[in-house]
Amino acid sequence: MSIPTELVGSLPRPMKLQEAYEDYDQGKIDFGQLQAEQDKAAEDSIRRLEETGEPTVTDGEQRESSFATYPITDTLAGTGLADNLAGDGQYFAIFDDGHHRQLPRLTGGPFRYKTFASEFVEKNKQIASHPVKQAVIAPSMLMLLHPLEGEIPDYSREQFLSDLCDECEKDIRQCFAAGAVRVSIDFTEGRLANKNDSRNPWTGKDMLDDFIELNNRVIDRFSAEERKNIGIHTCPGGDCDSVHSKEVPYEKLLTKMFNINAGYFLIQCSSEEDKEKVYKLCGENSREDANGVPQVCFMGVINPLTPEVETAEQVKNDLVTAAKYIPVERLGATDDCGFSPFSRDEKPKHGSPDFARDVAMQKISARLEGARLASEELGV
Ligand SMILES: [Zn+2]
Repeated sequence: MSIPTELVGSLPRPMKLQEAYEDYDQGKIDFGQLQAEQDKAAEDSIRRLEETGEPTVTDGEQRESSFATYPITDTLAGTGLADNLAGDGQYFAIFDDGHHRQLPRLTGGPFRYKTFASEFVEKNKQIASHPVKQAVIAPSMLMLLHPLEGEIPDYSREQFLSDLCDECEKDIRQCFAAGAVRVSIDFTEGRLANKNDSRNPWTGKDMLDDFIELNNRVIDRFSAEERKNIGIHTCPGGDCDSVHSKEVPYEKLLTKMFNINAGYFLIQCSSEEDKEKVYKLCGENSREDANGVPQVCFMGVINPLTPEVETAEQVKNDLVTAAKYIPVERLGATDDCGFSPFSRDEKPKHGSPDFARDVAMQKISARLEGARLASEELGV
């Protein structure tokens, strides 16, 4: 068995698709026309990922408004927003370059998804010849749809959280039922929870323990066998080639994150200044037995926010170093983040999203070759 590798999920949307989203918002094209562009980009993503040799593939999330909002809105501008939501919710994050992303606001109950990720899995299964994975959003992100303070009339916070957990569970189960071999849960709000950014009040509320508890409320509904293939992704953000929480000390998250009873973790690392410290924290805190599953640490060896392509040699060296701290049978390789988690992302450091798609494929190839070299060197 060699060191397993897996991508997080997203790829930059081609500029043509980004323009189609905009045309749809402006009423110039209908939803069918937008979907035709999404399908084209999804098919191209799968084909190109398979050409690199990526063992499990995604559609690059080309059909999603974003990794966080796909269940509740068709576009980032709010076209096709689900019931009981308004556009003016909390900031999910304010990024280092000054731009922000805002969530919708829950205005009443019941809370229901309008789109489940299994819809994408079903379509991708028809195109892909490799096994398909799907990323889904964590309940801990969507709990931020609820206003931070106060209650909503006739819909208690507890009832909302209960409905939310049911929808998240259904999202994961339906992905597996549709044929996904792996489902990873995006948990980018984990590190952000300790940011204490006064412009973004929820980040000063010490919510990490609540996030972890809520995520376990969903994950604990799955058997150990199922949880082997349920992952958690953490990162300091990755949007418009910028981050939102890289200055938050990583140990605040990594000493707690492995309390989530997931079978594997996709962990940003390559862009950290002190990677060895991260390997050590993961080695010390990940569990051999998380209620029946060993936790596999997929360490980030590729930085999707820069156009410089890592070499296979760099990747190999990172993994060999990581193996000093993390048992090799619980070590994997991933990218620090999705390559473009939001549908509108011009990838400024790359110059264009189309070029960034090409770069992403080269980076993924380097990860695959580096993992192969590391497996050889480590004798696994
Ligand atoms: Zn990420």
